[in-house]
Amino acid sequence: MVKQKAVCLADIIGLLNRLCPPDLAEEWDNVGLQVGDLSAKIGKILVCLDAEEIAIEEARRHGAQLIISHHPLIFKPLKRLSPTDMTGRVLFQAIKEDIAVVSAHTNLDRAADGLNDWLAERLGVKDCLPLESPVEGHYYKLIVYVPLGHENQVRDAVLAAGAGHIGAYDYCSFSTRGTGTFRGSSGTQPFIGTPGDIEATEEVRLETIVPAPLLNKAVSRMLKAHPYEEVAYDLIPLANERPDVGLGRIGYLDKTVSLQSFAEQVKAALQLSSLHLVGDLAQKIGKVAVCGGTGMSLFASAARRGADCLVTADIKFHEAQRARSEGVALIDAGHFATEQIMVAELSRRLKKEFYERQFDVEIIEMTTENNPLVVF
Ligand SMILES: [Zn+2]
Repeated sequence: MVKQKAVCLADIIGLLNRLCPPDLAEEWDNVGLQVGDLSAKIGKILVCLDAEEIAIEEARRHGAQLIISHHPLIFKPLKRLSPTDMTGRVLFQAIKEDIAVVSAHTNLDRAADGLNDWLAERLGVKDCLPLESPVEGHYYKLIVYVPLGHENQVRDAVLAAGAGHIGAYDYCSFSTRGTGTFRGSSGTQPFIGTPGDIEATEEVRLETIVPAPLLNKAVSRMLKAHPYEEVAYDLIPLANERPDVGLGRIGYLDKTVSLQSFAEQVKAALQLSSLHLVGDLAQKIGKVAVCGGTGMSLFASAARRGADCLVTADIKFHEAQRARSEGVALIDAGHFATEQIMVAELSRRLKKEFYERQFDVEIIEMTTENNPLVVF
C-alpha cells in the first residue's frame, strides 16, 4: 500500500490552477481563494455550486476543511465584514468553523474538460469545439539564436519545459541556419572569439510556440542549456486562438432529431420536469451549441457557426424573439441545472487527480442544493 500524502490548501489550489487555469477567467470574475489559510491541512473537501450557509453547515457536519464552489463567494470588493448580509454571514461562519472556500467559475466554464464539455457530453453533443475562443495573447513565439552544434540541447531543454505543443502534436519546432555577429566588450568571456573583436559565427535560429503560463520555465531552461554568456532571443506575443478552451461549445448530435425529441433528451439528461424553448417542435436539430449558466451573449456566435439550437439559461423575452426570427432554436434549461452538473463532474476529476498523486483527501459531493427558482 502506497503511503498517501497529507496536503495543504496551497496544494489543492495548485492542482485546480492546472485543471482550470485562473487566466481563463473573465476579467470581472473573482476565481480562486475566497477565504482560508494556504497552509491549512486539507483532508476533506465539499464540492458545491454555491458556498451558501447550507454548504458551510454541510462541510462542518462532514468535517471538511475546504469548500470548492462554482460561483465565487466574493464578487465585489467588501467594505465591511458583517453577518448582516448573505456574503458576510457565509464568511463569518466559514472563518468561525475554519473552513476555506475556493471557487472555480468562468475559468472552469472555459477550461478543456471543463463545465461546458461536461454539459455537451451529457446532452449527447459530440466533436465539440469552443464557441468562442477569445483567449488571445495566450501563446508566445520563442526565437533563440544558438551556435551550430548546440541547437539540439537547447531545443530539448525548451521542449521539455512544455513548449512546442500544437493540437495533438508535440516536439514542434523550426530551425534555419545563418550567420550571427557580435563583439564582446572588455570584461566579457565570450564562448566564441575574443573580447573586442567582431565575430561572425554559424548559428541556428530556433523557434517554437510556448503557452503563456510556461513562458518563464521555457526561457529559464533555454538560458541554462545555452552556451552563450549573453543569449539573443525574442518573445513575440501571438494572436493565435486556443482550439481547446473558450466559452461555450458547439458540436453535433449522433443523428438529426426534432426539437421536440432533443428537448426531451435535455430534460432527461438534466433531470428536469420542464424547460423553456423557442422554435418549432418539428424543427430539425443536428448541430448544437451549449453554454452552461447565462449564455445568450453567445447567441450570435452560435447562429453564425450554424447551430440549429443553443442550450443555455436565463434567456430574456427579447432574446427569445430574436432567436425565433432568425430560425435558431433555443432551450433554456435553467441556470441551476446547466451548472449543477459541475458538482459530480469536478468531483470525479479531482478524485482521479488525487488518486494519481496519492493525495490523502476525500471528496464529498453536495447533494442538498436546489434551484431557488421553482415552477409552480
Ligand atoms: Zn452560474
